[in-house]
Amino acid sequence: MTIPDELLHVVRADEPLAPLVWLGIGGPARFLAEPVEIEQLKQIYQWAAEDGLSVKILGGGSNLLVREAGFDGIVVSLEAPATSGLAIEGNLLTVGAGARLSHAVIKAVGSGLGGLEHLVGIPGTVGGAVVGNASAGGRDIGSVVQCVRVLDPDGSIRTVSQAEAGFSHRKSALGGLSVLDVVFELEQRDIKLLTKRMQKLWIARNSALPVEHRRIAVPFVDPDGSPVRELIQNVGLAGIREGNVSLDHAQPNYLIAHAEATSDECLRLIERVREQVLLQTGIDLQLNLKIW
Ligand SMILES: Cc1cc2nc3c(=O)[nH]c(=O)nc-3n(C[C@H](O)[C@H](O)[C@H](O)COP(=O)(O)OP(=O)(O)OC[C@H]3O[C@@H](n4cnc5c(N)ncnc54)[C@H](O)[C@@H]3O)c2cc1C
Repeated sequence: MTIPDELLHVVRADEPLAPLVWLGIGGPARFLAEPVEIEQLKQIYQWAAEDGLSVKILGGGSNLLVREAGFDGIVVSLEAPATSGLAIEGNLLTVGAGARLSHAVIKAVGSGLGGLEHLVGIPGTVGGAVVGNASAGGRDIGSVVQCVRVLDPDGSIRTVSQAEAGFSHRKSALGGLSVLDVVFELEQRDIKLLTKRMQKLWIARNSALPVEHRRIAVPFVDPDGSPVRELIQNVGLAGIREGNVSLDHAQPNYLIAHAEATSDECLRLIERVREQVLLQTGIDLQLNLKIW
């Protein structure tokens, strides 16, 4: 299978995915594409359709577990300027899907626009956050989305309203589409107060991260009512280990990949926790992490 001539400069073959994801685990993508304009993204989908290849969008890789077999298709990164810009008009903030969520939060706060500041410190891109309806402190990102522009696999671009995007607890109906950009409808607020609030939240979030570990993930969604961290602590699973993968002792909502960790070890640990929590509490934990 060959890369079409017009895409040769933005596609690489057999590209390792492990360095691109927070857990640092996983094999290569058959192709990794970094389109610099939306037209090229359309060409990628056309190539995929013609050659029967699957396409997946990679955001910041903070919510992904990639198996050692890698992904036998095209992985697309949208970090180029054409798909990661930020623009403000009145109380509307338009952000490209490949922009870092932290950049969107800082831009909004610095412009006196409230509604995103509680998401400060959540890693990843705006696209990843919107598709997974990222949340913090009980408020999700979907609540301030006005509309989302998506590319359908047939290459057509359309605008999806907040209602059509189907946001619910850590979910949206946008899976399987490529999110191109997002319009947030925010509220005019006092910049100084917003900045103070963001700084406070940032400090609190950082102090709740596992110390000395970079290869981490949040495997489970908080079930309604109780933080998953407390549930895991209460059933005595904080710090448990499966091979080279463990849950953090102090903050057991975080999974840690130690040196030589494998995707199978991650999946075994996740299954053990789900089984024990279900057995002891009757709560069926839902997975946050996406598995490729
Ligand atoms: C330390 C740490 C703290 C975290 N804290 C929180 C938290 O407080 N709240 C929370 O909700 N989450 C949290 N997470 C999880 C994670 O950061 C979020 O889910 C984040 O929004 C994922 O974004 P990403 O760009 O990294 O997505 P990725 O991990 O790259 O991808 C996740 C999924 O989104 C899809 N996707 C990404 N971009 C697009 C796009 N443009 N179009 C279509 N699909 C796309 C991917 O295909 C994949 O299926 C945390 C993770 C870590 C490691």
